[in-house]
Amino acid sequence: METESIRLLRELSEAFGPSGFEDEVAAIARREGAKWGDVREDTLRNMYLYRRENTGNRPVVVLDAHSDEVGLMVQYVHPNGLLQIVPLGGWAPGVLPGQTVRVRRRDGGFVRGVIASVPPHFATSAKPGDAADCRIDVGASSIQDVEALGIGVGAPVVPDTAFSYDEARGLCFGKAFDCRVGCAAVLETLRRLQGETLAVDVVGVLSSQEEVGERGAMAAAYAVHPQAVLVFEGAPADDTFTPDYARQTVLGKGPMLRHMDRCMITHPRMIRHVIDTGRKAGLPVQEAVRTGGGTNGGVYHVQQGGAPSVVIGQPVRYIHAPCSVASVRDLENGVQLALEVLHSLSEEVLAAL
Ligand SMILES: [Zn+2]
Repeated sequence: METESIRLLRELSEAFGPSGFEDEVAAIARREGAKWGDVREDTLRNMYLYRRENTGNRPVVVLDAHSDEVGLMVQYVHPNGLLQIVPLGGWAPGVLPGQTVRVRRRDGGFVRGVIASVPPHFATSAKPGDAADCRIDVGASSIQDVEALGIGVGAPVVPDTAFSYDEARGLCFGKAFDCRVGCAAVLETLRRLQGETLAVDVVGVLSSQEEVGERGAMAAAYAVHPQAVLVFEGAPADDTFTPDYARQTVLGKGPMLRHMDRCMITHPRMIRHVIDTGRKAGLPVQEAVRTGGGTNGGVYHVQQGGAPSVVIGQPVRYIHAPCSVASVRDLENGVQLALEVLHSLSEEVLAAL
């Protein structure tokens, strides 16, 4: 049987929400947030979720996850009816040809398409295409055919991937786990805090446009001005291609805390506090040092005078590809870790960091 959090993850995963077009994720946030809090949004479609128990006179902790997913946008239509596309965010190399997609029509409906591939019988090169070389086939043969479908220049596109849940192994297969597992974790954490008194105010932020350069988080950092930030991120699992002694983000082994990545040296005392709090509570925690990868932490830790920010990475195999794998245990342990940390924070604890 699917739990409430799996049902929510299913809905979030299947929601259409490439960068700049996060409306369906925003609608889920609005509906869920209204059950236990006050929901506001800004013109970027950042969703702000305020606990009803917030007082307005305690330090503010932001729980962030980005609502967008990597997608595509139609650049122009070829005379033969194929859609030229540009990437919204960074796709893993070679994952696009042969994938089915949904192209959003001007009226809000969708047209199914497939990313064109050259049959081996006609192929002259074995190299798979980048997003920039790919074209979408919606079954049209002319510009007029495409026009009649109600799609055209500027239409947003995502993979047409159904979510599935393997209950026996606690595994989820689907698209956009970067960062809809994070969105599920933010909503679930705030839901479980309902009615509780904390020593800090907590604001959930489902931030838009992370995949094109953390744009939503920039506005959110100014709108909320947090004193500390926990960022949930669907983090690339490294357990399928790294020797075991070097693995730092293994599926099912718990949230991954990164000491460093391309955008941030994580506040050393804050990350220590989070790791120690998790281990004390008996939660599995993985530690990592990365040279690539960026998150909204990169924005929050320097904006508005800076706020100590820690990223709770949720291991996901094959992010930035049409289908990813995530573990329900990692989702649950990420929520548990956030709850433990929020219970541990106060004005004094934050001042001592
Ligand atoms: Zn992400």
